Amino acid sequence: MTPRVILPGATVGVLGSGQLGRMFAIAARRMGYRVHTFSPDTDTPTGQVADLEIVAPYEDLDAVRRFAQQVRVVTFEFENVPAATAAAAAECSQVRPRGEVLHTTQNRLREKRFLVANGFPVAPFREVRSLADLRQGLGEIGPKAILKTAGFGYDGKGQIKIHALTAAEEAWRRMAGQECVLEAWVEFEKEVSVVAVRGVDGSFAHYGVVENDHKNHILDLTRAPGLVSTELAAEAVEIARAVLEKLDVIGVLCVEFFLTSDGRLVINELAPRPHNSGHFTFDACITSQFEQQLRAACGLPLGSTELLRPAAMANLMGDLWDAGEPDWAAALALPDVKLHLYGKISARPGRKMGHLTALGSTVEAAAELALEARARLLRLG
Ligand code: AMP
Repeated sequence: MTPRVILPGATVGVLGSGQLGRMFAIAARRMGYRVHTFSPDTDTPTGQVADLEIVAPYEDLDAVRRFAQQVRVVTFEFENVPAATAAAAAECSQVRPRGEVLHTTQNRLREKRFLVANGFPVAPFREVRSLADLRQGLGEIGPKAILKTAGFGYDGKGQIKIHALTAAEEAWRRMAGQECVLEAWVEFEKEVSVVAVRGVDGSFAHYGVVENDHKNHILDLTRAPGLVSTELAAEAVEIARAVLEKLDVIGVLCVEFFLTSDGRLVINELAPRPHNSGHFTFDACITSQFEQQLRAACGLPLGSTELLRPAAMANLMGDLWDAGEPDWAAALALPDVKLHLYGKISARPGRKMGHLTALGSTVEAAAELALEARARLLRLG
């Protein structure tokens, strides 16, 4: 049976209510869909744009079922939605990507076991459930390593760098008994990612390799296209394609890689949704990652991923508000710069508040422009 296409005019649901849902909702509303969002918060980045903002805990499965009954398809913008929530939604609607994709990718150990079982390249790692496990792991793959909580980690949250065996006890104490993964430290030349999408019919599209700079473990700047060899780019894309196929993803998934100093690709992590390193696609590609998520969820053909001009994306963190409201007009005086603000009420340090996309004739020019625009936000007087 060919799956039925969900056409414009229908209502789509998104679990989660942050900026990814907001940009998804913008893409969906532009194409004439209605959008409902579900999360425990009010006046959210997604809710401000959606037709309906449902506020309830993810654990309120009756509320989840009611939400799912009112929409033709449920998608996610936040992969830490509990498995039971996804299952409850699936009783009443289609869920794309399916809940199992979330289940695998929301836990670092399950994700790594999946990657290893399918022959994908990952850094050496050990499962850690006790101080003894940690000491043994450090002996085997350390002493330079990074300890990460298995569950609920993103943007460097729940991570401790370990430089010596002697640091084990303190690191384990800070993890407070949580299940962890110990990863060997990777000496990388750069971090790159591939945002890709798979349609209901198995069609595949990708945005190529982009380069990512991080600050304090949080993405700071993305450059598209990434300057890597053609062979390496092809290898990264093939890995992404295989990951989406093996996980049977319908939707968008980002594979984050380390490119090691000796020229190998190692998967850092998977995100089964639009990704911060794909935000440039909103302004710089024929079809954005958010529209692709919508098209995939609705069973529509995927759009072209062509990059119209080289681009760079600079994140705007809450710290930019330390000295008052940033000078938006100064940044926007650069005509090839686009501003995205997520409608978050309070600007806490370390919180993603928005981003700038800059387009240029070369990727270096675009990156310089994005940085110049961001610097102008803090211009005094
Ligand atoms: P994650 O939340 O796992 O994506 O980690 C956030 C950032 O920490 C990455 O983008 C890297 O910059 C750094 N990092 C994480 N794991 C490692 C590792 N095994 N070796 C070196 N750097 C790492």
